[in-house]
Amino acid sequence: MTVIGGGYVGLVSGCFYAKAGHDATIVEVDSRRRAQIADGELPFYEPGLRSILRNVLSSGKLSVSDDVCAAVRRTEITFLTVGTPSRRDGSINLAQVRKASREIGNGLRRPHGYHYVIVRSTVVPGTTLRVVKPILEKHSGGRVGRSFGLAMQPEFLREGSAWEDMESPDKIVIGAVDDRTRDFLVGFHKRLHKRHAPPIVTMNASTAEMVKYANNSFLACKISFINEIANICQLIASVDVMHVADAIGLDKRIGRSFLDAGLGFGGSCFPKDLRALMRESRRLGYSPSVLKATLEVNDRQPLIAVEMVRTSLRALKGKRIGVLGCSFKPGTDDMRGARSIILVNRLLKLGAHIVVYDPKAMENARKVFGTRVEYADSVEECLAGADAAITVTEWDEFKQLTPPDFGRMKRQLVVDGRRIYRPSEFLGKIEFKALGLGPLA
Ligand code: NAD
Repeated sequence: MTVIGGGYVGLVSGCFYAKAGHDATIVEVDSRRRAQIADGELPFYEPGLRSILRNVLSSGKLSVSDDVCAAVRRTEITFLTVGTPSRRDGSINLAQVRKASREIGNGLRRPHGYHYVIVRSTVVPGTTLRVVKPILEKHSGGRVGRSFGLAMQPEFLREGSAWEDMESPDKIVIGAVDDRTRDFLVGFHKRLHKRHAPPIVTMNASTAEMVKYANNSFLACKISFINEIANICQLIASVDVMHVADAIGLDKRIGRSFLDAGLGFGGSCFPKDLRALMRESRRLGYSPSVLKATLEVNDRQPLIAVEMVRTSLRALKGKRIGVLGCSFKPGTDDMRGARSIILVNRLLKLGAHIVVYDPKAMENARKVFGTRVEYADSVEECLAGADAAITVTEWDEFKQLTPPDFGRMKRQLVVDGRRIYRPSEFLGKIEFKALGLGPLA
């Protein structure tokens, strides 16, 4: 099989199929990324993946190439996992999808059998049918359903637990354009996951595309919902959103996951997907209020943490603020859409001196913040002499800190932006504030 794109989705999928015994070729256009993968190095941090990559490379089951056409010609299935980044107006940029589709189409000119093309990138409803299909047919000279098959199968993996999600997905959603591809994919996944196969649901391609957006939008809504409740809790004496989340989470209709109040969501998917769905919805003549409010609440959260620091320190000019965490979530070095960026930019604008520390994302932090901030090599260095500290990413290393660990700060003011500390252990020992925690009665 061919996997086009050696990013999170492509690299993890390629390794997974190769580990399952298939001959997989990852085609990657970026020469640096290609060389890294071929050398057994990950272009990004993902727990556990490096050793799996090395194993499948040394077993000969995984290879890396720069030639889509050649790879398509000698394989039976092609998975399209290229990026679909946001444009300024929120719509997705399909340049990578179009280019890769042209290349696949050229590869399909001389097929050695019925070839299955599976779109895995997140694309707005209608893209597989209206964009990918005509390009494939034009460049191959063939027809979907006759000379090759086409389906859209959205990917739901989470960075930081990508391998686990690939091995044990909650569901497999198949949006087939032709019946043969639908039947092939259902059988393929049943064989791949054997007894542990998750529910496999089939539908048309545009509906499968919508499933991905609805899935991510719902999870994002849940986060913004609890953040809205947190912002209200914070104004009421002795009310703590953590207890509220734990209690409402016990309701089976609600569930506890994605009810962690704090600085909001980031990453390469939720903000991008919400903006893309909003944009598409408006294009179709519908103004989406819930999605809009979800993003508004989310963008406000980091600024609320800044205000909490400002209320205590008053003027922030020249104040030294330690920022614990830069990646958009623990388990990754990815800073795309990270809340740390909004937070740090705001603090810098107010004249603060920022010291950042992250266990994995320092290289990316340097690319994002450049010389505008100071970089610490450890938590201790980040906190030393600081006027305030803010927890931005819930890394285990930060969760383990106790009040004495903040002892070397100039002023022991801690704003817990991720609700990783038990207020009862901190209140009264240091100046402690947390998102969603009301003032003491
Ligand atoms: P990414 O940007 O990390 O990787 C895409 C890769 O494709 C890049 O390395 C790029 O160089 C390569 N590429 C682009 N055009 C190519 C071509 N013509 N030939 C060969 N290689 C090419 O993207 P990602 O995070 O892996 O996401 C891929 C898609 O999957 C996106 O649509 C994304 O929204 C979706 N998705 C991502 C995640 C995630 O957690 N990252 C989860 C689910 C779905």
